[in-house]
Amino acid sequence: MILDTETLGILSRAIEKLAEGFEQLPALAPAHPSAAADLERVLLEVAGRMQDNYPYMHPYYAGQMLKPPHPVARLAYSLALFINPNNHALDGGIASSAMEKEAVAEIAAMFGFPADHHLGHLTSGGTMANLEALWVASRLQPGKLIVASSQAHYTHSRITSVLGIPYAAVDADALGRMDLAHLRLLLQQGNVGTVVVTLGTTSTGSVDPLPEILALREDYNFRVHVDSAYGGYFKLVDNLDDHAARAYAMTSQVDSIVVDPHKHGLQPYGCGCVIFKDPACGALYKHDSPYTYFSSSQLHLGEISLECSRAGASAVALWATQRLLPLVPGGEFARGLSEARQAGMEFYEKLRADGRFIAPLRPELDIVVYAVRAETASRASALAREVFEEAAAQNLHLALATLPAALFRQVAVGADLDWDQENITCLRSCLMKPEHHTYMNEIWEILGCATDNCLGRSGASGSTFLRAL
Ligand SMILES: *Cc1c(COP(=O)(O)O)cnc(C)c1O
Repeated sequence: MILDTETLGILSRAIEKLAEGFEQLPALAPAHPSAAADLERVLLEVAGRMQDNYPYMHPYYAGQMLKPPHPVARLAYSLALFINPNNHALDGGIASSAMEKEAVAEIAAMFGFPADHHLGHLTSGGTMANLEALWVASRLQPGKLIVASSQAHYTHSRITSVLGIPYAAVDADALGRMDLAHLRLLLQQGNVGTVVVTLGTTSTGSVDPLPEILALREDYNFRVHVDSAYGGYFKLVDNLDDHAARAYAMTSQVDSIVVDPHKHGLQPYGCGCVIFKDPACGALYKHDSPYTYFSSSQLHLGEISLECSRAGASAVALWATQRLLPLVPGGEFARGLSEARQAGMEFYEKLRADGRFIAPLRPELDIVVYAVRAETASRASALAREVFEEAAAQNLHLALATLPAALFRQVAVGADLDWDQENITCLRSCLMKPEHHTYMNEIWEILGCATDNCLGRSGASGSTFLRAL
């Protein structure tokens, strides 16, 4: 079976152990006395509806940024749901709040922040985590501009508009990274309070030049917020190229950082994380409690979070995952990420060696974007959409991304394309699962077959072009 149910016996035993903690109470009749047969009927109906999904758990899903949770996370989350703790306050979740603090301290340590001197918590996701970081930034530097690259996540401009903070986009260069010359220009114009640095952009996995951006702080006074919602965990791997490795080596120098355990951290959705280097910024969250509250060891998570109710189950799942797979270089978790990166590199090499494709960017992490070669950008875009459909019909699920012509024009591989439009629709594969590496040959074979079918169908001009290659 494609979905793993072998571990359900463990869940049952864990629930029995959990129930032992409440044995002093009189037994309860079920609060919702629906007949088991009714429950089953509805659940089977749900199962039928849920079949209408792409197979995210399978390596043949090689499209969007989706990765299945680890079995331990799934089990711990389900187990916690029998309590359903609320990590707003200790009243709502005693153990799960402690677990949140411990898990977040481990993530902070991964980035090089002292485990006992930082301020951080989990959020419902990366958008909320970034919102908190930019809210703190704007409170510390009222009226000042927040800037992020044009390849930064689209939510930054929306977040700043929600918060009423002035925002400007910095150009991206041919590799999808923040353009330093343009950033310097904006800094010279003054009034930049915060630079958002993306380690792993969502569309191409590009890594902004963090060391060079930090060096600019010698001449200009600004905060650095790192958005590594997708890329943060690559801090742990040993097979990055030089540029990315140098950037990840500097994470301890930044003011705040975001990572999404629900992206590369093997967690169910609803788990982002924001960490501030200076615990004193916790005071900003508070209206009436003394500042000292935040340096006490009795941190109350609800007092340092913009969200009120938060799923304690998320913290429990994350804690359990980190218990099983500690966040250390060389560990099993890190090896899984290295393997995903390896899959990305191998896929890229195959694309580069094959005349049917154009792969403009050597992947920095595990995202690969590639176009189908054609005479014109519009024809290549149409072909990408056809290959997307044809591959799906053969059980291989890819994603589409529209990229600016600039990304291709400046690299030799795109030089022979007739740019009849300013952007190009490409295929995009986030090769986030270690199994993508094991299944690389099968993935490649289906892609090749789907592409041949589309090119074959595309008629005389397409095949003339292929013969000319
Ligand atoms: C996914 C992502 C976000 C948004 O995070 P959500 O968890 O989807 O809200 C922000 N920034 C980057 C770089 C991302 O990849």
